[in-house]
Amino acid sequence: MPHYDLVIVGTGSGNSILDPRFADWKTAIVEKGVFGGTCLNVGCIPTKMFVHTADLAATPSVSDRFGVEEELVAVRWREVRDRIFGRIDPIAAGGREYRIGHPDNANVTVYEGEGRFTGHKELTVTTAGGTETLSADRFVLAAGGRPVIPDVEGLDEVGYLTSDTVMRLDELPRHLLILGSGFIAAEFAHVFASFGVKVTVIARSGALLRYEDEEISRRFTELASRRYDVRLNRRTLRARRDGSGVTLELEGGETVTGDQLLVAAGRRPNSDLLGVAATGVSTLDSGHVEVDTHQQTSVEGIYALGDLSSPFELKHVANHEARVVQHNLLHPGEPIEADHRFVPHAVFSSPQVASVGLTEQQARQRGLEYVTATQDYAGIAFGWAMEDTSGFAKLLADPATGLLLGAHIIGPHAATVIQPLIQAMSFGLDAHTMARGQYWIHPALPELIENALLNLPVKGQR
Ligand SMILES: Cc1cc2nc3c(=O)[nH]c(=O)nc-3n(C[C@H](O)[C@H](O)[C@H](O)COP(=O)(O)OP(=O)(O)OC[C@H]3O[C@@H](n4cnc5c(N)ncnc54)[C@H](O)[C@@H]3O)c2cc1C
Repeated sequence: MPHYDLVIVGTGSGNSILDPRFADWKTAIVEKGVFGGTCLNVGCIPTKMFVHTADLAATPSVSDRFGVEEELVAVRWREVRDRIFGRIDPIAAGGREYRIGHPDNANVTVYEGEGRFTGHKELTVTTAGGTETLSADRFVLAAGGRPVIPDVEGLDEVGYLTSDTVMRLDELPRHLLILGSGFIAAEFAHVFASFGVKVTVIARSGALLRYEDEEISRRFTELASRRYDVRLNRRTLRARRDGSGVTLELEGGETVTGDQLLVAAGRRPNSDLLGVAATGVSTLDSGHVEVDTHQQTSVEGIYALGDLSSPFELKHVANHEARVVQHNLLHPGEPIEADHRFVPHAVFSSPQVASVGLTEQQARQRGLEYVTATQDYAGIAFGWAMEDTSGFAKLLADPATGLLLGAHIIGPHAATVIQPLIQAMSFGLDAHTMARGQYWIHPALPELIENALLNLPVKGQR
């Protein structure tokens, strides 16, 4: 049985660990899919390339109110798709070639197959050529997650798309049904609706993006419902094929038919398929591998990171944790801790949503003393330029210290506009000092933040 100093399972953020400092370690990388993982191949990057294209396609639908007449003539879907994957696929292939063939990686063996633990620190890898069992002193588990397929009768028989497959379609559907109400559903609904596809979103919950701050979720649901068909509070009971289409039977006797179905009902960690229990690694009820603040699992020398162990399921978190694991492998005597205090996220839909820290409902549940302030895009000069009438920023702060507890934005460029607030929270800057201690470029979008901060009834500005 080949024995290694270190085996890494998964080439998403896991692939960033090995660098020249590991040159004298005997290492192996195990990957069952495409090199580069979810973010590069089927996640953040292609979706945002589609979203930007969709934003362009959607422009004519809003230009009239600026006195400009535009028309969307056509979306050349295959060209859109091939531009995006023509850029991405070579990066994935290059990453693979680098690990397999480059002299920098003379100490790295790549196993292209599925790994599953079969004993204590023993991983059996099934490749096209057969199976091989590897042992190692240390493992990094970076095996990510996969889409959850809800238990709906007939779903397997009718056939469905997931985020792994929908971006590679050969033709745009005419009518896309989307099962789900989270960020993946919201992003694809925007993409396909902008490309002229009829979209129906079917949500079990009473609102889209329901984990966002309640006011943001409410506004997003309202705006989405004006753009495409949104069915809330609907349980899907059965799926059946109708000619070339798919019909979903919803609770209450309602049916909805489209020609393609996208299942976007959340994701789950791959700990089960990796068989982590066989090496003694414990998992939480959610299926996430349990880790301590050093990203070490319940077994000494076995680390985990990213979607496999993190409830955040975000690429910037997976990358941060990979840096923590890398340090702790190299310097076991001086381990560092992962910092999960202020983890931001964004939803690249239309409108965009971005958030960091506590929502108002969380602050309430925790019994915290807090104050809130909002600022509409419509109240700042660049918001006038953009004719925005629906976006806003909402801040929560501790009234005594002025420190921010949470920040939530819905509106143009929310994912970019929120960054100074993430910085303020990370470095402990209070609202008044932040608002008045620097210039804010006039008339740029960050004035939204300046005004929201000044609206907070906190220390220094009551
Ligand atoms: C549609 C979509 C859009 C997203 N958009 C964003 C976004 O805008 N911003 C953001 O921050 N995050 C986004 N995410 C989430 C982000 O992609 C993930 O958080 C991130 O990729 C997780 O990285 P990871 O390294 O933990 O796992 P992954 O990148 O998933 O890597 C895991 C790797 O392990 C391999 N693997 C799994 N099991 C085994 C096994 N048993 N043996 C061998 N190999 C195995 C897989 O093939 C995969 O290559 C998005 C996700 C999706 C699905």
